[in-house]
Amino acid sequence: MLDTIPPLYNEIHDTPVRPDAFEMDDETKILLIANHFEEIMQILGLDLADDSLKDTPNRVAKMYVKEYFSGLNPANKPEISLFENRYKYNKMLVEKNITVYSSCEHHFVPIVGKAHVGYISTGKIIGLSKLNRLVQFCARRPQVQERLTIQISAMLREALGTEDVAVVIDAVHHCVASRGVGDTSSSTITAEYTGRFLNSGIREEFLRYAGVA
Ligand code: ZN
Repeated sequence: MLDTIPPLYNEIHDTPVRPDAFEMDDETKILLIANHFEEIMQILGLDLADDSLKDTPNRVAKMYVKEYFSGLNPANKPEISLFENRYKYNKMLVEKNITVYSSCEHHFVPIVGKAHVGYISTGKIIGLSKLNRLVQFCARRPQVQERLTIQISAMLREALGTEDVAVVIDAVHHCVASRGVGDTSSSTITAEYTGRFLNSGIREEFLRYAGVA
């Protein structure tokens, strides 16, 4: 099965998924996860006969497969269409404050924040909402923020056909905020710069537009 997995999933920065990860269909996954989640609720002592609780295992399983972790499946990768850039805009484009909802892979609790992405056009342009969709696709996996940042950058470079890409993420980790050390005021910033964004002047221009410097 390995050779049917797109190259993106074989690289070092990829989410560690098994080669057989998508042999099972979504409906079977939902059924199995619901059974296991029901078991967790049972062990916690919850009464599954209660009206409010009885559908929770199925709801959680569906949410995991179809929403929270839908970005694991390469079949859900957004279609990217590029347009010819007739007005010769060959400068920087920045989309800031893209909503990031992800999940910490160590605790399975939310990572919530904003992504700022920038690129320098090669003459082709991307539909702006596609930038949001690419961020969302990478975020909808069990993640660590560092890898999420690198994955978004790699996917943007692939989609845009340029190395001139910048990604900054500023996010709150609920494993830090809602448990453990319980710090609700800290956030974590990660960045990946490639191509011309390695130049400090260009990088500073990007950070100024994104409003993070
Ligand atoms: Zn965590």
